[in-house]
Amino acid sequence: MPDSSLPLAQTSSPKIAIIGGGLTGLFTATLLERAFSQMNNQQINHQQINVKALIPEITIFEKSRSVGRLATRYRTDSHTNKNWQWAFGAQFFTAKSTSFQQFIEPWIQTGLLQPWCAQVVSLTPIDANNQTADIQAREQWSRVQARYISTPKMTSWGRALADELQYTTITFKTRVVALAEYNQTLANKVSKKTSQKTELFNEDGNSLGSFDWVICTAPNAQAVELMANSGFSELAKITEPQMQACYSLMLGWDDKQPLPESLKYQEMVWDVAYVQDSILDRIFIEQQKPAHDELLPSITIHARNDWSEQHVDADMDTIKAQLLAAAKQALGWNADSTPSQIDCHRWRYAATVKASNTDSNNTDANKEAVGILVDNEQQWIVSGDWCGQGNIESCYQMATQTVARIYAHSLISAG
Ligand SMILES: Cc1cc2nc3c(=O)[nH]c(=O)nc-3n(C[C@H](O)[C@H](O)[C@H](O)COP(=O)(O)OP(=O)(O)OC[C@H]3O[C@@H](n4cnc5c(N)ncnc54)[C@H](O)[C@@H]3O)c2cc1C
Repeated sequence: MPDSSLPLAQTSSPKIAIIGGGLTGLFTATLLERAFSQMNNQQINHQQINVKALIPEITIFEKSRSVGRLATRYRTDSHTNKNWQWAFGAQFFTAKSTSFQQFIEPWIQTGLLQPWCAQVVSLTPIDANNQTADIQAREQWSRVQARYISTPKMTSWGRALADELQYTTITFKTRVVALAEYNQTLANKVSKKTSQKTELFNEDGNSLGSFDWVICTAPNAQAVELMANSGFSELAKITEPQMQACYSLMLGWDDKQPLPESLKYQEMVWDVAYVQDSILDRIFIEQQKPAHDELLPSITIHARNDWSEQHVDADMDTIKAQLLAAAKQALGWNADSTPSQIDCHRWRYAATVKASNTDSNNTDANKEAVGILVDNEQQWIVSGDWCGQGNIESCYQMATQTVARIYAHSLISAG
């Protein structure tokens, strides 16, 4: 957050466009609103009563109808009226920095965010030598360095963030086209960008308005398309981090059905399994998460990122069959305990890896993050989780960097 002791330099309310309504976009809008409100309070405290309050006009343009890679799918059983539910994007997040811990605190207080003290195991699937999967205790996540989930759904936090915004309009189902198209369409006007405004357009060529700042939070493969040939000064750095795919498999069982062998808890209750020697990476038991106990048995399985990336363009039915075969080996179901609900989703951009790590499945390696990419002259910022470590906490870090840069730039321009 900007230093609240700094003087306020901007004299008119800025218009800010955020491309992408994922967590980076929502955190950025939230922190921008807070920063401007803090500036205005500071003016009042300094009795600068003749200075007009600066209310930012923020617009988030989101091409889909929901909030980014936080995703929940559910299905209702017609007999029991109960739900199966799968968080098939991000499953949980960490809050390692004090600043992010403070940021999430209000939602922890309301119970919307809850720590997930999961029992974590290592699971080696059935193979020619073993008739049952081998399950070994690994760790229990604790409240120290906790993993958090959003309740009742993983999407609930995104919705709450969106609802709490005061000066931000969110326009769903609106794809912003490449900024170069703007340059070409308005070639004669570009040269006189004295007002520093950037006009954005949708796919139909309709104007979405002119903005003092444009912040792009799309995954980097999409960001590079948006900024290509636009004159964005940091273009080459956008493709430095690599993003890998992830297939998510969603499985559900009926209330009265026997559960597969590995889930019967005869020896050990577990919530999360790291799968060994498999194309599967992790298994998450949804109905055992905090505030999820009303659900019918629902399991989300993430495939390994390297395997998913290698098969990113494969036919979905083939992928689903391969994932199901691997899941059967891991969970050990028979004719009676075959899941009744089966679904699969492909994430083209799921995990950020450094170029040198692309051949491994280690996405958490200590790698240097590129940070947000800023073109001060055009007042364009390219941000997103991939500018950091590719997780939800990175979305917050990149949002704080963005807000600090806009604030600093306002001071320099006035100086
Ligand atoms: C399978 C999976 C598992 C994960 N597990 C974890 C985890 O356990 N812990 C964790 O912390 N993180 C996890 N993550 C990562 C986490 O989900 C992301 O870090 C976070 O959601 C990224 O948010 P974002 O806003 O940066 O990007 P996104 O959520 O991708 O948001 C960018 C948005 O931009 C929109 N967009 C793109 N182009 C345009 C355009 N031209 N016009 C308008 N809108 C556009 C997209 O539709 C998208 O909604 C996981 C992700 C996946 C997919």
